Amino acid sequence: MLICSWDKEIKHWLPGALANRCVIMSSMSSEKQTQQINSFQVAKANGLLILSYETLSRNIEHLKRKGPYQPYGLLVCDEAHRLKNPETIQFKALYDLPTVSRIMISGTPVQNVLKEFHALIDFCIPQCLGDTKAFNKTFGRPIERARDVGATDKELTRGKEANDLFNAHVKEIMLRRTNETIAKFLPPKEDVVVFCTLTKRQQQLYTETCQNNAVSSFVRISNLKKIVNHPSMLQLGDDAPKQSFRGRPPPFDYSQSGKMLVLMDLLESVKRRTSDRFVLISNFTSTLDLFQQMLDQKKLTWVRLDGSANANKRQTIVDNFNGDPSCFCFLLSSKAGGCGINLIGGNRLILFDPDWNPATDQQALARVWRSGQKKKCFIYRFFATGSVEEVVYERQLSKEGLAGQVVDDNSEARKFSSEELRQLFRPNFATFSSMHDSMGCTCCETVAEPSSVLPEHGSTTSVDENGFLHLKPGSHELLAKDECLGCVQRHVSLVFVRTTDLTSQAPPPARCEEVEEDEMGVSDDADETDDVD
Ligand SMILES: [Zn+2]
Repeated sequence: MLICSWDKEIKHWLPGALANRCVIMSSMSSEKQTQQINSFQVAKANGLLILSYETLSRNIEHLKRKGPYQPYGLLVCDEAHRLKNPETIQFKALYDLPTVSRIMISGTPVQNVLKEFHALIDFCIPQCLGDTKAFNKTFGRPIERARDVGATDKELTRGKEANDLFNAHVKEIMLRRTNETIAKFLPPKEDVVVFCTLTKRQQQLYTETCQNNAVSSFVRISNLKKIVNHPSMLQLGDDAPKQSFRGRPPPFDYSQSGKMLVLMDLLESVKRRTSDRFVLISNFTSTLDLFQQMLDQKKLTWVRLDGSANANKRQTIVDNFNGDPSCFCFLLSSKAGGCGINLIGGNRLILFDPDWNPATDQQALARVWRSGQKKKCFIYRFFATGSVEEVVYERQLSKEGLAGQVVDDNSEARKFSSEELRQLFRPNFATFSSMHDSMGCTCCETVAEPSSVLPEHGSTTSVDENGFLHLKPGSHELLAKDECLGCVQRHVSLVFVRTTDLTSQAPPPARCEEVEEDEMGVSDDADETDDVD
């Protein structure tokens, strides 16, 4: 999958390297693979080899034969977080490959613990941060201890010192790029948070589940997350296999789910008004199954990508969607969505349920709002009002806020305290949004008519600390921001909207004699696009 993407980008940005490039697809026979490596190794200059980690591991002995007296000039590792564990065969094989320089590219350099980040840096520049033991003593343990809920003042101080020192080191060797860096080269984007009220049936099931002390908190939370997607998810298990619907599918009633009602109203509203297309993302493949059924009922076209497709098939599905304007929806499981997939054929993306790890959501968003996208983008996040999903989102926001602290540390959701659990199992359906309540925002209090303008956030200058406007369904402001969503009112309790539009800051189009220089500039930014993947 990524092999094809890289080959395409080389063709686009480095046409001079085309003549001497060798691309190894995993589908090639081993003879063909050997032949490609041979022709790469005999290339005198500017040779370029593109291959997957798996193919490289299989052919590592062959590739090492070039060294040790003739090292390769440059090794570039995309999705470098795959090398976070120095104990793996893959890591060891690559580590020994004789190279002059190494570049690691990753959208999530720190996924869980700093130890993994150390492994990546050590792969790139051996001993730069000391060996594992020294690193843990100086940086790892103090920083992680300070992040503990019960950290003492002394531990906090030590953690801060270690953190500052760590960042000073890292700044020398790491180039950090966020999506905002390339925003001025991208079309405008609306981030839209949609709070959807549950149906009566969902509320009843939800309350019953909260009160069921017979099962563990973990099981209850997991069941709550299913109920808010659709009541039938409770019977489907965590990740029901696709074939559970082979034969005659059970009649599916999406109107039992508040979020699905909003989803369908939005899809139909967009279909009526625009030629825009959608990417629909869920953490549950069983929810994708339900999407398929509701789209089929409405005769809306879709393709689907989840973890079950192999690399070649994935690329075909992606190309089919991007190249076929009549294909309305791309159904994507968030676990399959993180790795470099380019879905610029769609410009409206819906995250149907939130993930504890904000990096997963962030990666999903970058599928459509990226280099090559020409249309204005709408990124919707759906949350069931007053439910566990709002808690997940609140945690995400606090973690996104911490991102600058240590690179992009997205440590796993810490365990809940017993008070937090009590809170979690106390559903609050009589609200526009429980998260909004806890923000202490009063914009809703004086609003009697759902369609009237919110007094506090009625003007575009008044936004919350995350840059969002708070808008009522059907309000004039919302209609102005997103006419298609503005027309959807059933089961929508509140909408947050944040506009990103930096297009006016983009450099003016180059004059003829400057074209060459300008192309170089744009080329730099293409690298940054890959960086955020
Ligand atoms: Zn408000």
